[in-house]
Amino acid sequence: MSRFCEMLSQVSPPVLKGVALSMKFLLVFDFDHTIIDENSDTWIVKCAPERKLPNELRNSYQPGHWTEYMGRVFVYLGDNGVKEDEMKRTMTTIPFTAGMIDLLGFIGENKELFDCIIVSDSNTVFIDWILKAADFHKVFDEVFTNPAAFSSTGYLTVQHFHAHHCTKCPKNLCKRKVLKEFLDKQLERGVSYTQIIYIGDGGNDLCPVMFLKKNDIAMPRQGYTLEKRISQLAQSLSPVQCSVLVWSSAVNIMSYLKSLIKE
Ligand SMILES: [Mg+2]
Ligand SMILES: [Zn+2]
Repeated sequence: MSRFCEMLSQVSPPVLKGVALSMKFLLVFDFDHTIIDENSDTWIVKCAPERKLPNELRNSYQPGHWTEYMGRVFVYLGDNGVKEDEMKRTMTTIPFTAGMIDLLGFIGENKELFDCIIVSDSNTVFIDWILKAADFHKVFDEVFTNPAAFSSTGYLTVQHFHAHHCTKCPKNLCKRKVLKEFLDKQLERGVSYTQIIYIGDGGNDLCPVMFLKKNDIAMPRQGYTLEKRISQLAQSLSPVQCSVLVWSSAVNIMSYLKSLIKE
């Protein structure tokens, strides 16, 4: 017994250190203009007659009600005989953002260190098509986005992801609420993260970024809305608490992740 304890005490420092460090990082990805280099909801318009929407439809968008607007776009496509397979063929030609294919490959090879989720205002059908076509669906543990499905008459329909009370976010989705609920659920299962890394570009990525803590990292895409909003806040009385690392290619993100796991 004592002999065993002795042996254990000799080996225990590195072992215990290993346990204490049991590092797991959470990567939170936006989708449009982050994973793909386009807006999926705009890209689908390529399926419309003459690749454009009638003015009346385009002008029907009401701020904060994007999901309803997309619902009308899908009705228009359905009315014009655009079928599921044509939509799928069109959507899977969207280019990935520079460096993203390598980054997602790298994450996929290091899944024991990285949990990875998508929080997006696109929809389940588009994201499924795109991830599966590129064989990236296993990289992501969960995808949080507006639920969509084809009706029995072949029309694509989309619904709000959830209801929330956040005044800063569009009616259908508060990404902060999604992130909070995900972290709570993980904690219940005994999973907590060494660091959260949030990768996005848009205005609706600011709400979750403002929820991040000192030890976390926001990675806004260079030249896009999120970067501008974060730097505006930096000059205000309530800057973000987390660190900020701007990226222009996903290679930048990969370099950061490599430096993290080398430590
Ligand atoms: Mg985006
Ligand atoms: Zn919000």
